Amino acid sequence: MPAALSIALSKGRIFDETLPLLARVGIRPLEDPEQSRKLVIGTSRDDVRLIIVRASDTPTYVQHGAADIGIAGKDVLYEHGGAGLYQPVDLGIATCRMMVAVRRGFDYAGAVQRGARLRIATKYVRTAREHFARKGVHVDLIHLYGSMELAPIVGLADAIVDLVSSGHTLKANALVAVEEVMPVSARLIVNQAALKTRPAQLQPIIGAFAKATQDHQ
Ligand code: ADP
Ligand code: MG
Repeated sequence: MPAALSIALSKGRIFDETLPLLARVGIRPLEDPEQSRKLVIGTSRDDVRLIIVRASDTPTYVQHGAADIGIAGKDVLYEHGGAGLYQPVDLGIATCRMMVAVRRGFDYAGAVQRGARLRIATKYVRTAREHFARKGVHVDLIHLYGSMELAPIVGLADAIVDLVSSGHTLKANALVAVEEVMPVSARLIVNQAALKTRPAQLQPIIGAFAKATQDHQ
């Protein structure tokens, strides 16, 4: 019998929205990662276990084969670069948009038109760099790890690049979204080497996720 199959995913939004898909695939976690402090969680299938990682670390675990499969947002995958990974299924969950946002009243279009150099605070440095390069806008990137919304308020940056879903956080901080960078949803990712060496173990579960996603939509 092959080693147990590991699925890497993060607590919170990704875990919550993956649960119904897992159920349709026939996988039920034996513990709730929000309650338990365990980082390795067994499931109703003794050949499948979940490993709980930080959202931005999911591609790294799968790339190195520490997990066979993972579930990660396109935001995180874009920053990682995708080396060593297959991305066979867009799961259509954890959807939001990567946006440029500024302080209410800041003339973003005017600044871009004038060719002004913009200070951009973000967790998504690669995504932001490529976005502004495509537009031909000169930027200084400021790498933050969270609470990006604060940066324009206290004068650290002219704009932020961040994920937006409801827009409530922007609104609460007097910011407005001015441009979409890309739509974001979570993808199933698979270690390329594992898929080549253990297709019989991995193909059925990839197929089951694809079917569960279609049935859901
Ligand atoms: P963390 O704050 O540790 O990065 P989150 O649970 O906030 O973890 O985000 C995990 C993933 O969920 C992100 O990588 C993204 O794909 C998705 N996500 C993040 N923020 C939002 C949002 N506002 N709406 C929908 N999905 C989001
Ligand atoms: Mg978050």
